[in-house]
Amino acid sequence: MSPTIIQSAYLVAAILFILGLRNLSSPKTAVRGNQLAATGMLIAIVATMVDQSIISYTTILAGMVVGAAIGAVLALRIEMTAMPQMVALLNGFGGAASALVASAELLGAGETGASLEGIVPFAIAASVLIGSVTLTGSLVAFAKLQELVGGAAVTYPGQQFVNGALGLAVLGLAGMVMMDPGNLNAFYGVIAIALLLGVLLVIPIGGADMPVVISLLNSYSGLAACATGFVLDNSTLVVSGSLVGASGLILTQIMCVAMNRSLGNVLFGAFGAASEEGAAAAAGQDQGNVVAYTPDDAAVIFSNASSVIVVPGYGMAVAQAQHAVRELTDSLADAGIDVKFAIHPVAGRMPGHMNVLLAEADVPYDRLVEMDDINPLFPETDVALVLGANDVVNPSAREEKGSPIYGMPILNVDQAEHVFVIKRSMNPGFAGIQNPLFFKDNTMMIFGDAKKVVISLSEAVRNY
Ligand code: NDP
Repeated sequence: MSPTIIQSAYLVAAILFILGLRNLSSPKTAVRGNQLAATGMLIAIVATMVDQSIISYTTILAGMVVGAAIGAVLALRIEMTAMPQMVALLNGFGGAASALVASAELLGAGETGASLEGIVPFAIAASVLIGSVTLTGSLVAFAKLQELVGGAAVTYPGQQFVNGALGLAVLGLAGMVMMDPGNLNAFYGVIAIALLLGVLLVIPIGGADMPVVISLLNSYSGLAACATGFVLDNSTLVVSGSLVGASGLILTQIMCVAMNRSLGNVLFGAFGAASEEGAAAAAGQDQGNVVAYTPDDAAVIFSNASSVIVVPGYGMAVAQAQHAVRELTDSLADAGIDVKFAIHPVAGRMPGHMNVLLAEADVPYDRLVEMDDINPLFPETDVALVLGANDVVNPSAREEKGSPIYGMPILNVDQAEHVFVIKRSMNPGFAGIQNPLFFKDNTMMIFGDAKKVVISLSEAVRNY
């Protein structure tokens, strides 16, 4: 096949990846974005299969069949709440694949006596180092989120020093590999220390901060793929790896800003460890009286409202209440009530968590409003319905300087005329701190599982 055709196919694939990402930035075009990117990947795979010197198509086909079968079963069976750890595993395998391909190039050149020139030794060292850190870091993130190990931050004296020393050692060894790719001791040293570093860098991070870390590891897996692209002189891999690297980094930054935390604080702040103590103290604090309503009581206020804003959070995901809430909001809208959904950028446990769930339940996109646009509307809203959300509506972030979440942008639901909060108990959310919203005069709690409560509320509103 002529190199021009292959390079043109790679160019088309790269354009499709970029268009795919562009379309993924809005829920309305996200499905098309996925299709465009998948088509790009298909073109890239076909072009690579006809271009490169394939040793055995049978082995490749067998790998594709087994891999596709495992992928399809996982995709069908995975719960939406377990998606972050699934992404962690995929990142880890991506990093491992890049490191293995780069290692094969180095070891293969050693056997055939071929010399590795130009940028290739540098790219091999980078791919092996970053790919190995990504593999073990992602496995630890997976184990924490899957609760195979404790989720708390693991810290010990001198931890930063140990990590710093290992970091310098691995960089030194990687430098030796770059200068002399035949130095296999240095090469194996890079792999061993990088694998260890992946574990050591992720254990001091609290389980609850894992989604940010996973986004960062996603970016690393892209960088490793990009480096492998230079090893293989494959422009599609360079482009797609850079896109993953850059988008992962941008997403990490968005999540940090939405939590009002620096990346350094997420990586080295051991937030989980600190907040567990705070949680115990805060949960024990007496903040006043709580008013509990039944769905029947609440239906009276809902039926007399002219505007309702629903604020979904992690509890909606746990209860899988999205279909029930779609039905409730449809009947409110049919009764002439203006209904909107307020979307906080870090509601739930992964970016876009609420958008995905509400899209699954066919909630019209034009009812979803981002935080900055909806906040000015709360003071003129009759009812704010907080559905399994906690931290993202906690006024302490605005008012209490000493609070661990002080400065985090929140949805100002407390400014609505009536606030209903659906959750099972007075337990805190992710940050482990009590929420003064629950004790405000205009707040009414409806205790129970989000799905069951919303179904009862729907019935009560219909029968009112
Ligand atoms: P929170 O974790 O603050 O609160 C969720 C609430 O849901 C809990 O208080 C819980 O109360 C309630 N809940 C749990 N299960 C149910 C159920 N079945 N029915 C009803 N309620 C239920 O969630 P938010 O969405 O408000 O905030 C997200 C938090 O996660 C933020 O602190 C954010 O920084 C953090 N985070 C988010 C990431 C992201 O990318 N989205 C990434 C990393 C962290 P109860 O047990 O009483 O029912």
